[in-house]
Amino acid sequence: MEIERKQLRHYADVLEHLKTYFPSPVSDPIMDGYFVHSVSRFLDQVDSLKSAKPLLGNGVKDNHYDTSQQAVFPEVISSVEDMTELLADYCQGMTIWSHPNAQLNVIPPPTIPSITAFIAAAIYNPNIITDEYAGRFSEAEIQSIAMLSDLVGYDPQLSGGLFTFGGTGTILYGCKLGIEKILGGRGMQDGIREDFKIFSSDVSHYSRLNVAAWLGVGTKNLIAIPSTSNNEMSLSALEEALRASLGRGEKVAAIIATLGTTDAFGIDDLAAIVHLRNELVEEYGLDYVPHIHADAVIGWAWSVFRDYDFDDNPLGFHARTLRSLTDSLERIESLQLADSIGIDLHKTGYAPYISSVILIKDRSSLALLSREPEQMPYLYQVGHHHPGIYTLECSRSGAGALAALASMTLLGKQGYRVLIGHNVEMAEMLRERLERHDCIQVLNDYNYGPVTLFRVYPPGVDAEKALHSELNDPEYRSQLLANNVYNRQVFDLIYERVMQGEGVLLSWTLAYRYANYPDAPAVAALKSFIMSPWTDLKAIDSVVNQVMEVREQIANS
Ligand SMILES: *Cc1c(COP(=O)(O)O)cnc(C)c1O
Repeated sequence: MEIERKQLRHYADVLEHLKTYFPSPVSDPIMDGYFVHSVSRFLDQVDSLKSAKPLLGNGVKDNHYDTSQQAVFPEVISSVEDMTELLADYCQGMTIWSHPNAQLNVIPPPTIPSITAFIAAAIYNPNIITDEYAGRFSEAEIQSIAMLSDLVGYDPQLSGGLFTFGGTGTILYGCKLGIEKILGGRGMQDGIREDFKIFSSDVSHYSRLNVAAWLGVGTKNLIAIPSTSNNEMSLSALEEALRASLGRGEKVAAIIATLGTTDAFGIDDLAAIVHLRNELVEEYGLDYVPHIHADAVIGWAWSVFRDYDFDDNPLGFHARTLRSLTDSLERIESLQLADSIGIDLHKTGYAPYISSVILIKDRSSLALLSREPEQMPYLYQVGHHHPGIYTLECSRSGAGALAALASMTLLGKQGYRVLIGHNVEMAEMLRERLERHDCIQVLNDYNYGPVTLFRVYPPGVDAEKALHSELNDPEYRSQLLANNVYNRQVFDLIYERVMQGEGVLLSWTLAYRYANYPDAPAVAALKSFIMSPWTDLKAIDSVVNQVMEVREQIANS
């Protein structure tokens, strides 16, 4: 190392050396080979971290954080080889999302072409703020948006949209559009000087809190509508709350309908919400139309079943799966009624983080968010497509857009039907097996997605009765809390087993929902979210067996 540093004294020498750290700008078989070799060495090194466990290496040790905090900026240059080793090392502790024994959350394994798209974007570094900096990556954005419009049934002549920084970003755009529709775009300049209300269900994603806080609306202006036992927004409660609000002369900027809640896959009745909104606009003589944003970041993918022949069932799904898919589709089909839709390709689209789309029914409404090109003097001097005029972000990676295009073109409706159908089929099998045990209660038995929430009860407890009391009877408050602790113990013991190389990694939710009385505590649950094409009946059986074994273990301890 010391010798090397001496040899590279003059800056010009160092620069020559540094050039080997970059892919060559012109075709150069030796340097190109070196690049490929580096990537391939990385893959080999990561491969050696694989075991029977659904994660790379031995998991993350907490004490790493102490030393991480001590990191200082290095003085000298390092080598590509050393970095390759270091990067592989940093993959330790990563869950292998495609592993049959990983049933953690709505996190997919990305397809090979969507990974290649990210590599393409990493090498050529497009910024889709304008096509001047993005070449055909800009086209990928427009095409992906058009494909998604077609999928959900928007009129492609009118619709539009853009890729943004996550599901949270999609909700942010939706709510901002709602506010600016009321203000005629003046809020961009004048700021928000009055209260705007945003309605959503109490089991909608917490990102609504961020959105309200960061938009300057304030979380106090969020109105959480109680959800029914099916985890969907109560329509009567929504109507009551909207009437009360409009009656007080308040302004309703947005109603967020969730199509596929994060924990339980609850699906709001979007069609009924739109109908209600239209009626109230009429009845209250509003001079604006409250914006309806469909948070379908998870549920959008079910749109691929819109033209599936459920009678013929060419893919041969089981009856229980078919019923589940048709029930979900009944709601998902109305996505086209929403004013905007949030879509995460990095959830049910099998693309890497981040690939999120805000789809807008009437793209002309984006004009409400635009700035004058004079305010961005160094941009948009050449090229034709400049979404940066209305996007919140300045630098926007082209990776998500190209990855979305890659996964959608690769899989088509057929591929997504098989992947989503398989997830639902496996979840149905899991539910069927869990339901066979009297000590286990499946919690989301009316919401049919890839997610299963369940609670386990100790010996001597009638689980069905116990859950019913916990949900409805304030007298059972302390029992509810005690069983939350018991289930956490089950979860922890399962986690320990997985870390020893045996069993299926599940996740834990502190609040699948709240009990049905005022000031009720949260009901915690174990959660299985199936996303892997490799999940099979063996993995399903292990989930049930490990739960029963751990329950036994607790009883004997
Ligand atoms: C995940 C999720 C979000 C937030 O999306 P990110 O991509 O994680 O920012 C919003 N809504 C729902 C229903 C979600 O599941």
